[in-house]
Amino acid sequence: MIKAVTGTKDILPTDIPRWKYLEQTVEKIFRNFNYKEIRTPIFEETSLFARGIGEETDIVGKEMYTFKDRSDTSLTLKPEMTAAVVRAYNEHSLGAQQSLVKLFYTSPMFRQERPQAGRFRQFHQFGAEAIGSKSPLLDAEMVQMAYEILVSLGLKNLTVKINSLGTPETRDKYKQLLKNFLIDKKDKLSEDSRRRFETNILRIFDSKVESDQKIIKDAPKLVDHLDEESKTDFEVVKEQLEKSKIPFQIDPALVRGLDYYTKLTFEIDSGSVGAQTALCGGGRYDLLIETLGGKSTPATGFAAGIERILLACENEKCFTVPEPTIDIYLIRIDSELESVVSELAGKIRKENLTVDYDYLQRSVKAQMREANKMNARYVLFIGGDEYKEGKMNLKNMSTGVEEKVSLIKFQELVEKLKFQ
Ligand code: AMP
Repeated sequence: MIKAVTGTKDILPTDIPRWKYLEQTVEKIFRNFNYKEIRTPIFEETSLFARGIGEETDIVGKEMYTFKDRSDTSLTLKPEMTAAVVRAYNEHSLGAQQSLVKLFYTSPMFRQERPQAGRFRQFHQFGAEAIGSKSPLLDAEMVQMAYEILVSLGLKNLTVKINSLGTPETRDKYKQLLKNFLIDKKDKLSEDSRRRFETNILRIFDSKVESDQKIIKDAPKLVDHLDEESKTDFEVVKEQLEKSKIPFQIDPALVRGLDYYTKLTFEIDSGSVGAQTALCGGGRYDLLIETLGGKSTPATGFAAGIERILLACENEKCFTVPEPTIDIYLIRIDSELESVVSELAGKIRKENLTVDYDYLQRSVKAQMREANKMNARYVLFIGGDEYKEGKMNLKNMSTGVEEKVSLIKFQELVEKLKFQ
């Protein structure tokens, strides 16, 4: 038997109601903040992600699904959405029509990571990007939207972490400070961190190695060395979050080791999902639009992982979705009435009601079992003596009450199904 590829998952009919509930909650909140939906292709030219995420990152370095198509173009299945959205923003000059463009998306993503609970190779993200303003109010809005979505889903065990990376100039100065601090401790760092010391020193903060963390704990903090503008903006974000009653903590280790990330970074973690705690992450990326060939334009955004959020919801028993039901199940009493049943089903479906019936020549008892399994609100018995008299028996499955409906008064049946 051929099975699904490692790290991918089928979303089965029984999973769908929870996905739909999440997607509807997400969309409602994005629309409340006046974000418009965007959809971009599943694959892009590899260079977009190489430049848009950065050669230095794990994603580009070792996780992308990259392949050559038949004309030898290198393509990559999208591992994240920001670069793709910015590509679309630049390509269609979206900024020319509107100075601030607020977009949201839901999409599958692909990364060849080691699969584990909450980590897949095809997973889904929703997220938002606001392109065209450097206002820290928008940064706060990102945290607020993400938090509101998670809280609306019923999640409680959440930690909001924020940090500021300042401007690239501030960061360069800070990198030197960090270098000075680490230089005589370098030999004690892990191999990965020793490499990062040379290539991208800020990413040493990402190290999960305990001995690295002990060393880095006492390092000078970027957030204590911010330029005036970044400091003021960070204060505005904090103030806004306080006003919105969003509890947060400052995490100086929350860095994105890429030069076009600026000022705010944030992450929301859950204590209910095991090792992979991050439900969403985001921040400001004022230099990315230019890096991808557009006009210099400030922007901010975030992305959240749907599988991980659903896992947290399941573990916290956040919400229950109603059992799927159908409006009516048609039970055929006489086998020769098969085509009558099929025709009637067609007519009822046109009235925008959910109908099903038996396609397997099963007994009346088995048809009744099927109606129960489908949670039918009504069953209609077609056949027997009643049918010869031009009538059918309609049973309300929740009350058990039966009544006769006339074969020729179709509208009466429809009214009953719709309004009872
Ligand atoms: P990132 O784009 O890496 O900042 O990730 C944003 C969010 O996407 C994370 O907080 C996770 O919830 C989710 N995510 C990232 N990678 C994976 C993955 N491999 N499997 C499942 N969810 C993921």
